[in-house]
Amino acid sequence: MSANRFTSIDEVHMHSEKTIHDYSGKKITDFFACNVFNGNKVREYVSDEGYKSWQNSVKAGNKIDRKMADQIASGMKAWAMKNNATHYSHWFQPLTGTTAEKHDSFFTLKGDGTPLETFDGDALIQQEPDASSFPNGGIRATFEARGYTAWDPASPPFIMETAQGKTLCIPTIFVAYSGESLDYKAPLLKSIAVLDKAAVDVCNYFDKNVSKVSVTLGWEQEYFLIDEALADARPDIVQCGRALIGHAPAKGQQLEDHYFGAIPERVFAYMQDFEQEAYKLGIPLRTRHNEVAPGQFECAPIFEEVNVAVDHNSLLMDVMNRVAKRHKLKVLFHEKPFAGVNGSGKHNNWSLSTDTGINLLAPGKTPRTNLLFLTFFINVIKAVHDHADLLRAAIASEGNDYRLGANEAPPAIISVFIGKYLTEVLSEIKERVSGNFTEQDEVILKMDIHKHIPELLMDNTDRNRTSPFAFTGNKFEFRAVGSSANCGSPMSTLNTIMAKTLIEFKKEVDAKISSGEKKEIAILQVLRSYIKDSQNICFEGDNYSEEWAQEAKKRGLSNFKTTPEALDVLTKPETLKMFSEMGIYSERELHARHEIVLEEYVKRVQIEARVLGYLTTNHILPAAVEYQNSLIKNVKGLKELGLGEKTYAAQLNLVKVISGHIQEINDNVEAMIEERKKANKMDDMRKKADAYCTKIKVRFDKIRYHVDKLELFVDDKIWPMPKYREMLFLK
Ligand code: ADP
Ligand code: MG
Repeated sequence: MSANRFTSIDEVHMHSEKTIHDYSGKKITDFFACNVFNGNKVREYVSDEGYKSWQNSVKAGNKIDRKMADQIASGMKAWAMKNNATHYSHWFQPLTGTTAEKHDSFFTLKGDGTPLETFDGDALIQQEPDASSFPNGGIRATFEARGYTAWDPASPPFIMETAQGKTLCIPTIFVAYSGESLDYKAPLLKSIAVLDKAAVDVCNYFDKNVSKVSVTLGWEQEYFLIDEALADARPDIVQCGRALIGHAPAKGQQLEDHYFGAIPERVFAYMQDFEQEAYKLGIPLRTRHNEVAPGQFECAPIFEEVNVAVDHNSLLMDVMNRVAKRHKLKVLFHEKPFAGVNGSGKHNNWSLSTDTGINLLAPGKTPRTNLLFLTFFINVIKAVHDHADLLRAAIASEGNDYRLGANEAPPAIISVFIGKYLTEVLSEIKERVSGNFTEQDEVILKMDIHKHIPELLMDNTDRNRTSPFAFTGNKFEFRAVGSSANCGSPMSTLNTIMAKTLIEFKKEVDAKISSGEKKEIAILQVLRSYIKDSQNICFEGDNYSEEWAQEAKKRGLSNFKTTPEALDVLTKPETLKMFSEMGIYSERELHARHEIVLEEYVKRVQIEARVLGYLTTNHILPAAVEYQNSLIKNVKGLKELGLGEKTYAAQLNLVKVISGHIQEINDNVEAMIEERKKANKMDDMRKKADAYCTKIKVRFDKIRYHVDKLELFVDDKIWPMPKYREMLFLK
């Protein structure tokens, strides 16, 4: 039997709150990372030689040879089997946006039939899943269907534990046989390497001891929780992860009583459970709280090196999905599951730190470290200014289109917020340093930036929450990232454009130094020109306002409201050139990626259109007709009694109103189907995406408007779908 609204509402009260493993009473440090093959466990299980080779590979990118790989694999297997793992899997992040695993057992048979457990260097280093079943943007068509996964030694292996069993998972990249990357990790690793090199070169102006710069990421993950039974009674939530219809509740978020409110007990039990699973996997969760919308929550870890942080975010989303089932909850990572209330984002807090322990985006305490800070700070602004469209493209998705520019979400216009004090510092550099530097201008360097930053952070009015890209004291926070996104996409782009900008910066500074300029002055001069060049991207006001959209237009900033438009930049000649020169994507790869993301967009809109058509025809219209029939019966009866027109005028009017809505829904659904037929015949993916966007998706709101009106009129007892008020307020 399919889930029904009323049995579902009854079921809501029968949920369980059991956790598989109860670690209450234990300290987190007692079991943190117990399922991760790192630290002492590696020392214990792997030979000294193997351990050293692994370390070198992580630190310097050295290749691990076959013999060492065998030793490492053997230690890994021993540890995994001691922890009752029976299978191993290469774990990767294909462009589907989820994670992928292909399990193989350690178990095998020798030639003579003797059973044994094996896992060697070959199995550790490489596997061959069939690439043709993953998105590949045409790479498969001209090359080979095969692809392979390759071990990423920089992200530690872990044991994935489910009620059914345990699997050793090895983080890997996923590439086509012809070498093109088909995942999020491969370009991310390349971007980390180029940024490391570019940043070290610039750091060496200040400190020769810096030999490595790492990227740090601290993500904040927003999500909605609803009861599983109610979710199951909504085909739209089951299939699209969001409510395609549903009238906003009388009480939504307007009282602002949910944000940072007490966490409902049932939710608390869920949070504790998934946090424990996360701790075992070494994910250092730190923060949990209610978000602004009812039913919306957030969690955030302590920041980590970006490669590991991205893996941890993907892994956590899997864990959260899995653990939700135990609690009879459904977790929604969709960017806008409920129209009319806030959507969910995944804020990406991003910074750079040196192997000498310096956060390059934290203001220093001496003139010298201040200039170091200003150098990186201003280069970030320049990078965003020069490549804002690439950042926009990196976060483009069908779901995020509903969120960007909607309730409490940054707009589709990329701008940078730096706060009042730093704005003054920059304008001081721009004004005071008039071009012909003298030693005297070094006074600029003596500004006490670091002293003012903490104050700035204290002052909440200065913490602009509406900015898509905000400086928050010692890091930048990219807030326009969608909640369901793989952080690898925005992080690769951000790293790449930063590296590109730093490389150019160094060239310009070097040129000045070789023409006799003093180093500090040369740096200040180039910074000054960067401040001038990038002024347009800085915005301190309310990003949610209509005035900003107008102002941004005047400034010539892009405002791509839909994914197909936002993605066009990916195949522009300058983009292809930049990414291939930086060694991140070949032209072919970028074309393929463009195609993959467009196709994903088309598929998602297509699914939503189908579900919406089906929902309205099979669920909503029958209920509306049924209610209308009861009104007609009532009108007929009153007429017979002969008490006068007044006694049935209201009912008669309602009959007409309902007919009007039914008609509109019907017409729009039919038109949508016709448009879909036309769009499906298109071969060009860009044109197809455009048709899905401008001809099909645009009808969603119209259909929804009439359905939501019907929800207000039709007898509550026969309305088939759980309503917002039933879904959004977990107890
Ligand atoms: P909020 O922005 O919600 O007020 P915080 O400023 O406390 O919260 O921090 C938000 C996130 O920023 C946390 O997830 C934290 O890990 C991350 N973060 C802090 N410092 C850094 C850093 N140097 N690099 C990257 N992320 C960082
Ligand atoms: Mg934040």
